[in-house]
Amino acid sequence: MIEVKNLVKKYGDKVAVNNVSFTVNEGEILGFLGPNGAGKSTTMNIITGYLSSTSGTVTIDGCEILDDPKGAKSKIGYLPEIPPLYQDMTVKRYLEFVYDLKRVTLPRKEHLAEVCKVTKITDVYERVIKNLSKGYRQRVGFAQALIGNPPVIILDEPTVGLDPKQIIEMRNLIRGLGKKHTVILSSHVLSEIQAVCDRIVVINNGQLVADESTEEITTNFTGMKRIQLHIDGNDNTVLTALRSIDGVTRVRKVMRTIDGFTEYIVESKAENDVRKAIFRAMAKADCPIVMMRNAEVSLEDAFLRITAGETSVNRKGGR
Ligand code: ADP
Ligand code: MG
Repeated sequence: MIEVKNLVKKYGDKVAVNNVSFTVNEGEILGFLGPNGAGKSTTMNIITGYLSSTSGTVTIDGCEILDDPKGAKSKIGYLPEIPPLYQDMTVKRYLEFVYDLKRVTLPRKEHLAEVCKVTKITDVYERVIKNLSKGYRQRVGFAQALIGNPPVIILDEPTVGLDPKQIIEMRNLIRGLGKKHTVILSSHVLSEIQAVCDRIVVINNGQLVADESTEEITTNFTGMKRIQLHIDGNDNTVLTALRSIDGVTRVRKVMRTIDGFTEYIVESKAENDVRKAIFRAMAKADCPIVMMRNAEVSLEDAFLRITAGETSVNRKGGR
């Protein structure tokens, strides 16, 4: 449905998007994840035809955005990071304006009523936009994107600045869309994306660093166990002994503890319990363990690791 191929965007000397390629299948909700400044908005602005790319192509349902901008744009509903609202208009006036602008042919009154119902803004229909709360304003922006019932919906950080209740409402809205639309949703918050997306593409410094199903990302990283250790012994001896244990995938020296030992983090696959092997290895190396406990692994950790360039989840196998 959406094909992004070798996309590059330079602002002067700065490369904001560096050779990004991915596809989105029909009916899929794709999460576009990356820290601030990663290049998410730039990519989305190119996909929606608001910005031109330096090189690379974007095809929406067979229409190339540069060759056939009208065709491509007519298939897209876009909610930019800052919703393009006219603050002095009423919701009704604004949505009618967008309806006319998009030259929609669906029955006007019924279609607008339907969009308002879906985005739950019917009760503020006659109100002036600038007097609405942030949550409502965001939903009016959302309604604007849905007008004309485009098959592709692109949402740039739609939950930023919303309170937890509004975030849950927005999530449910997006989930509902996935049944009839193809959706790209950007965020810098992993849990946000994990909650609604089928697949996650991670971008960092303009480059794609992961493209996996949400399930794969979750098992890749929560399918890992992490053990925190305080050990008395020579650093190299300890590291070598820990790394030689069967089932251990990664060992990291963290810091000197207050009481003069050294802290290590040992990672293994979730199905391997390496604690006894650690005990035996340290006993053999004559490096006493003074503390051992299970440490949490969160998806947030995974995200930080991916974006710190420590690992790439699409590089299957060895780490
Ligand atoms: P994100 O949406 O992931 O936070 P952006 O796409 O907004 O990232 O920005 C990517 C990079 O490009 C950032 O380093 C940003 O400072 C830079 N950038 C964005 N827009 C412009 C612009 N108009 N001129 C110059 N640099 C820009
Ligand atoms: Mg952005």
